[in-house]
Amino acid sequence: PVPAPTGSEVSAWLPARTFTFPEAFARRVARTPDQPVLHVVGFSGREPQARPFTYVALAKSVHQAAALLARAGVRPGDTVLLCVSRADAFFSFLVATQVLGAIPAPLPSMADLQMQSYQSRLRSVARDAKPRALVVDDARAREAVGGALETATLALVEVAELDGDSVPMERALDWRCRPEGVAFLQYTSGSTGEPKGVVVRHDNLVANLRAIIEGGRMDGRDAVYSWLPVFHDMGLVAGLLLGVYLGIPAYVAPLKSFVYRPDSWLRAIHRFRATFSPAPNFAYHLLAHRIPESALRELDLSSWRLAFDGAEPIDPKTAEAFIRRFEPAGFRATSFRPAYGLAEATLAVSFPPPGEPLRCDTVEREALTARGEARPVESGSASSTTVISVGRPVPGHRVRILSTEDGRELPERHLGEVTVSGPSVTPGYFHELREGGAPREELRTGDLGYLAEGELFIVDRLKDLLVVGGRKHAPADVERVVGALDGVKSGAVVAFSVRGPEGTEEVILAVTPEPGTELATLEAVVQRAAQEHFGFPPRVVLVRPGALPKTSSGKLQRSACRARYLDGTLQRFTREPAPA
Ligand code: ATP
Ligand code: MG
Repeated sequence: PVPAPTGSEVSAWLPARTFTFPEAFARRVARTPDQPVLHVVGFSGREPQARPFTYVALAKSVHQAAALLARAGVRPGDTVLLCVSRADAFFSFLVATQVLGAIPAPLPSMADLQMQSYQSRLRSVARDAKPRALVVDDARAREAVGGALETATLALVEVAELDGDSVPMERALDWRCRPEGVAFLQYTSGSTGEPKGVVVRHDNLVANLRAIIEGGRMDGRDAVYSWLPVFHDMGLVAGLLLGVYLGIPAYVAPLKSFVYRPDSWLRAIHRFRATFSPAPNFAYHLLAHRIPESALRELDLSSWRLAFDGAEPIDPKTAEAFIRRFEPAGFRATSFRPAYGLAEATLAVSFPPPGEPLRCDTVEREALTARGEARPVESGSASSTTVISVGRPVPGHRVRILSTEDGRELPERHLGEVTVSGPSVTPGYFHELREGGAPREELRTGDLGYLAEGELFIVDRLKDLLVVGGRKHAPADVERVVGALDGVKSGAVVAFSVRGPEGTEEVILAVTPEPGTELATLEAVVQRAAQEHFGFPPRVVLVRPGALPKTSSGKLQRSACRARYLDGTLQRFTREPAPA
């Protein structure tokens, strides 16, 4: 492993609060030009290898990217789509776009998606963002883009040009940006429909970075490792920008390192002595259940003090299983940090401070579904549900729970819409603001949750609720119960409702069986479990592995699943006729 920094290297120095990200970056370039900060990780065999970039090397690359963009005709206020997966090139074009006063919009690169998904993603984003230029990192991209977009007025810039002869800049870069100017457009994951372009201002970005640093009690001893894609809010803000801002190493690996070899994540944490590494729940689940005992012996995970689990519903059982599995490798229970956040609040909204024990809340399911009350019960049973705490709001932010009926503020232990205020709350969506919409003050998240002793508990998304006979069931709860049954592939269950023949709501459970499971038996088991836990008889649909639609960041899409079910394109095991 790389030796930990000594005391004298530890610094808690932060650029002034009033500096935007490019200005903060420029300060670091001036202060510690030769400090390696961004480490682009690759794997040769099982061993992670890092290629370091110093501040000054990044700054040169930003200069060159700015010259390329300027030559392509990018002017202040223009939008630039960034379809780049290599972290150093992505970073350079991002900051270059910002210092030109233009608006960067990170998107998947061609390498991240299949051709058709890439093109349809481009089309949907271009309709919204109306880009002036597009930065690509693949030679085949020209054709792909040409097939998707009207390219007559669109400039195409290739990342490869960065490594070519340097293009002279007409003048030195001016790193100053307006705090209320746009830092980037963050397209949401698209879990509930088309991705929406969130306008993240410079002051939002800096506020959220500082909130994570303060809330996580981070300093110069920390080191980040991330395999999350840089076009995703968590990969961008926490995985890439945070390290550069704070002046600590940011190790950024390609998504495929995790997809092909999930254990590469742990090997890299061990190798680089990373302290901070975030991922969605499914990744923790996978590791807890898939890593062989033998691999454990070679791992020391004691450096990892902030293991953030966020971006999708968190299963308390995953936390438990992960901790149990990796405690022998030095992982501490208090390092597991359930986190809540969303692009509309830049990224982080809440997580428990480091070192505090995890907290779960076991409540009566009946009171929750019938009256929206989170009534604690002693211990778990079929009639209770357990929700994990995502801690208190990050410093400087406030969460209120509002009634979904009349919008009034609800007391603790009452279920309602999670509402956030504070400096990380973004002003709105790109198309709304462009059409003269007023910037928002308080963010209605569309998520359902409650507060208890000041801590936040996320139950589900409001629009996905299953309403059966006047009771509101959280699909995440149903999916967890069914996902834990023998014969069901965990994390591969989707619950949604459709209008039945008599106008009543019918719950559909799309379930992926484990290979080799007897299908008729499984169907009966799932039906019985749903009846017993929730009191409704669902329609069980057994689907083929991989049939459930996901976003480019790996989140299950309930509404897309519902649409596939309704038009008969959900790939099932049993060929019953599609619904009328
Ligand atoms: P879209 O808005 O396009 O439908 P998305 O909401 O999934 O996509 P993101 O901003 O990437 O896009 O994700 C934020 C959402 O993820 C939150 O609004 C919430 O629904 C979910 N989420 C994040 N953290 C948690 C958590 N700890 N528990 C449950 N859900 C979470
Ligand atoms: Mg959303």
